[in-house]
Amino acid sequence: MAETRRAEISGAGFAGLVAATALAQRGWQVRVHEKGETLRTEGAGIVLWGNSLQVLDDIGATHDIMSNSMTPPAYETRMDNVIQSQETLDGIRWRTMTRGHLFNSLLLAAREAGVEVKPGSRVVSATADGVLTTADGASTKADLIVGADGVGSAVRDSLGFEVRRERSRDGITRFLVPRRKAELSALEPDTEWDNVIDFWNLDPRVLRVLYTPANDEELYIALMAPAADAEGSRVPIDLDLWTSIFPQLAPVLQDAARIQGRYYGYQTTRVDSWTRGVAALVGDAAHAMCPALAQGAGCAMQNAYTLAVAATAASDDELPAALAGWERLERPYTDRCQDRSQEYADTRAMSQGNQFTGESVETALYEPTDPHRHEKASA
Ligand SMILES: Cc1cc2nc3c(=O)[nH]c(=O)nc-3n(C[C@H](O)[C@H](O)[C@H](O)COP(=O)(O)OP(=O)(O)OC[C@H]3O[C@@H](n4cnc5c(N)ncnc54)[C@H](O)[C@@H]3O)c2cc1C
Repeated sequence: MAETRRAEISGAGFAGLVAATALAQRGWQVRVHEKGETLRTEGAGIVLWGNSLQVLDDIGATHDIMSNSMTPPAYETRMDNVIQSQETLDGIRWRTMTRGHLFNSLLLAAREAGVEVKPGSRVVSATADGVLTTADGASTKADLIVGADGVGSAVRDSLGFEVRRERSRDGITRFLVPRRKAELSALEPDTEWDNVIDFWNLDPRVLRVLYTPANDEELYIALMAPAADAEGSRVPIDLDLWTSIFPQLAPVLQDAARIQGRYYGYQTTRVDSWTRGVAALVGDAAHAMCPALAQGAGCAMQNAYTLAVAATAASDDELPAALAGWERLERPYTDRCQDRSQEYADTRAMSQGNQFTGESVETALYEPTDPHRHEKASA
C-alpha cells in the first residue's frame, strides 16, 4: 500500500483551510499551523461568487454556509444617492455572509476531513525540498508545503520569492452592525434594503459606503475613503462627516461609530512564481488584490482547491513539475482578476454602475471543480 503523504500548511485563513480540507479528503495527512493563539473566527462580511461557492460545494461546506447567509435581490449602484443600476446578476451565483460564518463552516469541514489545526504555531521558514520550521524550533519534513499565510507570508519570504507590492490611493474600514431595516425604511421607504447598495459620492469628496446585508440580522458596511483624506480615513469614523454625505444610512453609521475599526489601504501583491520545489503559495501570500471585484478570498479558495487536486494527481517525483504546471494553468485567471481589480480601484469605474458584465465576471463564472475547464476554455 502507498504511504500516506504529508502536507504542512502555514496559515489557517480561508486559503489554508480549503487547501487542507481538499488534501485531507484526497488521502493526505494534513496539519495547519496558525500563528494566532486562537483561531480567527471574527471579521466583518464577505461576498462570494460562483467560483468559490463551487469549491465550497465540493469540500462539503455549502450546507452549513447556506444556513446563515443570503443572495440579495440585486446589486444596486448609486451616485449622489441616484440609482445608476440595479443588477439582478442573472446566471451568476453569489452569496453574502459574515466572515465568522464562512470561517466556522470551513473549520468544520476541515475537522470532519481529519485535518489537524494547530493554533499558536508560527511558521518561520520553509525549504523547497519540504522542511517546515516553526518558532518553537521544531522542523518537519513534508511531501508538500503550502504557504497560505497571508500578505506577510513567512513561507514566501523565507524561500526568497521576489515580491512586488503596489498600493492604491483608496482604502476601506469594515464593520458588522445590526440590520436596522425598520429604521432605514422609515428614512427611505422606497428603497429595497435587502439589496447590496454601493453608495458612491465623488464630488465634492470621494467617500463610498458599500452596504451589504450578510443575513437577516447582520449588515456588513465598508466605508471607503482615500488614504490622503485624514478625516475620511479616520477611525473610529467621523460620524458627522459620514452622516452629512449619507444621511439615509444614519442608523447604521451610528452603530459603526461605536466600533474602533481599522482602515486598510488597498494593495496588490505579485510574486515572480507561486512554487519552489514542493512548496506552493496560495491566497494573499501569492496574490493579494484590491477588493473591487470582491474576489481575493474567491481566488484564494479556487487556487487552494486546484492545488490540492494537482498535487494529488502527481507522484512524489513528479510533484515539483506538477506544481509548476498548476501555476501555468491557473495563474492567468487570477492575474487577470488582480489586474482588473486594481484598474477598477484606481479608476473608481465601478461607480458608473452596471458593474457585473463582460470580462469583470470572468472569475465569478470560472468553474475550478470542472476537470475539463481548460479544454473548454481553449476550444
Ligand atoms: C476591504 C477588503 C474587502 C474584501 N472583500 C472581499 C470579498 O468580499 N470577497 C472576497 O473574496 N475577498 C475579499 N477580500 C479579500 C480577502 O479578505 C482575502 O483575499 C482573503 O482573506 C485572503 O485569505 P488568505 O487565507 O490567503 O489570507 P489570510 O486571511 O490573511 O490568512 C492568513 C492566515 O495565516 C496566518 N499566518 C500568518 N503568518 C503566519 C505564520 N508565519 N505562521 C502561521 N500562521 C500565519 C494568519 O494569522 C492568518 O490566519 C477583501 C479584502 C479587503 C482588504
